[in-house]
Amino acid sequence: MGDEKIMLPAPQPTPEYLEQAAGEPSVTDSPSPLLVILDLNGTVLFRPNRNTKTMIERPFLKPFLRYLFENFKVMVWSSAKPDNVKSLVSQALDNHVKSKLVAQWARDSFGLSPTNYQQNVQVYKNLKLVWSRNQIQSFHPDYEAGARFGQHNTVLIDDSSIKASAQPYNLCEIPEFCATPEQMEGDMLREVAGYLEMLRQQTDVSQFIEKEPFKGDGRWTFDWTDEMAGGGEMTTKASAGSAIKKKSKKKQGKAVAGDSGTQTKLSEAIESMASVSLTASVQKDW
Ligand SMILES: [Mg+2]
Repeated sequence: MGDEKIMLPAPQPTPEYLEQAAGEPSVTDSPSPLLVILDLNGTVLFRPNRNTKTMIERPFLKPFLRYLFENFKVMVWSSAKPDNVKSLVSQALDNHVKSKLVAQWARDSFGLSPTNYQQNVQVYKNLKLVWSRNQIQSFHPDYEAGARFGQHNTVLIDDSSIKASAQPYNLCEIPEFCATPEQMEGDMLREVAGYLEMLRQQTDVSQFIEKEPFKGDGRWTFDWTDEMAGGGEMTTKASAGSAIKKKSKKKQGKAVAGDSGTQTKLSEAIESMASVSLTASVQKDW
């Protein structure tokens, strides 16, 4: 398997898509759940080594997952191979939460040729594939009344903007997570939750994202305490426990990396990663 990524032609947004996204954002009185499509690797977790099951979770992953499952319809879409996605999802989510997943898509969901499937190719998450599936649409709470997931109510959370080439304004792009010491003290997912709080009140998320794309610059944040940060090597799973209490919007300062136990684990994890390049490695995405 070569290191060089093979580029395939990127799907382009349609004129209709761009025209709709260019509309003025507006707030709706009756928000219905958005479909959130979550990337795994580089977004919520980091696998230091593709050949082991070890994964490092991004700080605030657990409250973030709880928040997602309480407020949105959630599916996972990863370019990793199905077995890997299965085991990552099992590690990250307990069975109760897992049963709420709309879908769990892996490398076999991109329509790749058998050759490309085995190669390090650039993949694209064309949301048309998602929107065309009745099995997914049936999760819309108002499906019977004709409501559907589409451009106005779908958000892809991913660390790679090129993957969203076909629907750039349905993307919440977040900086790639490689478990750097700085990132292990960061609160990116708390900011993403704050941004999603804005999006869920929108009539059309693409119109909002077109005007105000997500930036992890502290403007959006969610009132989770620093103690909830967690992070580090994954030990316990997220469960759909009690609702996270949302208080007034205020910045809590930088997250700290949990208790001393977590920190020990974290430094061990980072040590064990010493031989692994922490910067972009074309292989690690899948
Ligand atoms: Mg990724």
